[in-house]
Amino acid sequence: MDYRIALIPGDGIGPEVIAETVKVLEKVGEKHGHSFSFTEVLAGGCAIDNKGECLPQETIDICRDSDAVLLGAVGGPKWDHLPGKERPEMALLGLRGALGLFANLRPAMLFEELADACPLKPELVSGGLDIVVVRELTGGIYFGKKEIIETEDGVAAYDVEQYSEMEVRRIAKVAFDMAMKRNRKLTSVDKANVLESSRLWRRVVNEVAKDYPDVELNHFYVDNAAMQLVREPKQFDVIVTSNIFGDILSDEASQVTGSIGMLPSASLATGNFGMYEPVHGSAPDIAGQDKANPMATILSAAMMLRYTFGLLDEADEVEEAVRKVLAEGYRTADIAKEGEDIIGTRQCGRLIVDALDQM
Ligand code: NAD
Repeated sequence: MDYRIALIPGDGIGPEVIAETVKVLEKVGEKHGHSFSFTEVLAGGCAIDNKGECLPQETIDICRDSDAVLLGAVGGPKWDHLPGKERPEMALLGLRGALGLFANLRPAMLFEELADACPLKPELVSGGLDIVVVRELTGGIYFGKKEIIETEDGVAAYDVEQYSEMEVRRIAKVAFDMAMKRNRKLTSVDKANVLESSRLWRRVVNEVAKDYPDVELNHFYVDNAAMQLVREPKQFDVIVTSNIFGDILSDEASQVTGSIGMLPSASLATGNFGMYEPVHGSAPDIAGQDKANPMATILSAAMMLRYTFGLLDEADEVEEAVRKVLAEGYRTADIAKEGEDIIGTRQCGRLIVDALDQM
């Protein structure tokens, strides 16, 4: 089977971490008899320099024509003087809209080997941690009606939280499907004790649940979920929630992992199409110095294997290879403790490829 991947290396450390990730995917292909074909396209600052705009139509067309998109990072000080709408980061919003990416997946995975970097007590995360927050990405209060108005008491402003049944059903299905590919446990987070939109959310999630009898579903109010994430994080597996609650909870959950260089993410559209990228930015301070940690991008590729291509064993293998490299004590600078030997981007990629080879 041929899997077509649009590659957007982008700016700063983007091309460095993407290069290592491609090597990892090629090794997976070689081992399991899959063929991954890569088409490299421009977005971000490099697209501004070469094509005069951050998201050329050609990039959108090639992404749409691919099975998945793998993105490094965009942006950097070179383009900071540009007005908001022309900046490289606008390419990300443009891609979300053009590719219909309505579901954002942010895993918070703590490798046991990096437990020291976790701010929680060791007993709370013993054995590691593996949570995925599924955040609705194109609806809710960030996209609802908003206005600044004059009132008798002076100026006021409002933002409307609105969800349709279709939007909730669509994101709930993504979350249930994900739960089926993991441990069959789903927590839906809302504020149904106060908000009408949350009561609709809960009703629709319960309706979708009927199609997934094997998934154990529970509901948390968002304030309780925020508390439980630091009190007893291991009770969670997949969390599904609205745009604003997901924005906050995914950042909270990700903090337990210790380094931004370890955090993958995915944004999905209907039909398993997805864009996969590390959570970190283009890290201009270390760009071109062979210092970037490629693990977040490699783990994003593992998500691509699992969620878009349905290659569950291959995805597990890539994660296992990352774990093995960490267990052997190899650390890039961002996750190294004082006195530990430091490896560079390329060596890190090579070690992960070697680990895959030996499995
Ligand atoms: P950043 O994530 O690029 O860097 C923050 C800090 O983390 C830096 O010290 C950096 O060296 C370090 N870091 C980040 N990724 C790392 C990695 N893989 N390995 C080792 N260290 C790593 O965030 P920033 O400095 O706020 O932003 C830099 C640029 O990236 C800006 O132009 C910003 O707009 C852009 N940005 C892009 C994206 C994206 O493309 N998705 C996301 C965030 C920021």
